[in-house]
Amino acid sequence: MPPLPPGSVIGILGGGQLGRMLAMAGAQLGFDVHIYDPDPRAPAARVAARHAAAPWEDEGAVHAFAARCAVVTYEWENVPETALQAAAGAAPLRPGARSLDLTRDRVTEKRFARDCGVSTVDFAAVDDADSLQAALARTGYPALLKTRRLGYDGKGQAWIRSAADTEAALAAMGGAPAILEAAADFARELSVVAARGADGAFAAWLPGENIHAGGILRETRAPAALSQAVRDEALRIARAIGEGMQHVGVLAVELFEMADGRLLLNEIAPRVHNTGHWTMDACACGQFEQHMRAVAGWPLGPAAAHSRAVMTNLIGADVDAWPALIAEPGARLHLYGKREARPGRKMGHVTRLTPI
Ligand code: AMP
Repeated sequence: MPPLPPGSVIGILGGGQLGRMLAMAGAQLGFDVHIYDPDPRAPAARVAARHAAAPWEDEGAVHAFAARCAVVTYEWENVPETALQAAAGAAPLRPGARSLDLTRDRVTEKRFARDCGVSTVDFAAVDDADSLQAALARTGYPALLKTRRLGYDGKGQAWIRSAADTEAALAAMGGAPAILEAAADFARELSVVAARGADGAFAAWLPGENIHAGGILRETRAPAALSQAVRDEALRIARAIGEGMQHVGVLAVELFEMADGRLLLNEIAPRVHNTGHWTMDACACGQFEQHMRAVAGWPLGPAAAHSRAVMTNLIGADVDAWPALIAEPGARLHLYGKREARPGRKMGHVTRLTPI
């Protein structure tokens, strides 16, 4: 596919805050961005050229949406497979279905990572009480039971600290296929956000350090202070995963840094990622612009950081602090246009910059 000329239509499946920031970056590059999201008040819809508000199950609507687009991308890895197929039948899909197929299921994802020469925590697939017992014999306590699919922000997860927890943990999976993971006694959580171009070019931002609370990302500090060896290994992992998926666009790898410096892969996101939000303010080219460049077949932009950044998510009522945040020198405020600040809901983020 030749590079798309400005004025081309890029479609995004999913209209949350990631779609919103992608749409704004796409507009900056001269594209018309169309959003597909069932929610008539989807955050991305209010900044996009067009919004198709139809159910994911309406394959005809997805197909018609994609037929207007020169390329279709996604901001959400849980777009139903039938919708993806309907879109792919009418327009090129970037990243391709392979990126989603390899990352949608936590067991497939970890096996793929290992095939790419990337270490993960010990894990086993769990379908019932018997397979859970066998898995626990392997991981020991504590261990973390997670649904294989559709988990995000720590949802669909249950710690098993002793045999007494097993029944409740299994019940918490609601009968869905699960994965048991050994507890990673990590020193820090890191992530690498990177991009692979349609021509196979690769560009990565420096790793960031991530602070989670209650399974939700609170803060990313970037670039993280790392030894050269750990930094090189983190970047090698991101590249190996991107190559292995034959990915086109931005991806993120979430890593556990162990006390001895070993890196274990926790999760792959085949899309722009919350831990990459700092790049839009602190780097020559941020993740949202980079993704739109990649899916349009344009050259990747420079990922070099010109500032240090601390990115803080504004969760629920945190957003009420906006008058102080917008007045703060060195702080870049991003609000997602969500009407209702429910607890645990990501309402915006603020990135505080200091020169490198
Ligand atoms: P996830 O949804 O898999 O990204 O998990 C959300 C958060 O739970 C991670 O960022 C970690 O803080 C924690 N977590 C996930 N898996 C493990 C694990 N195997 N060991 C220890 N902590 C974990």
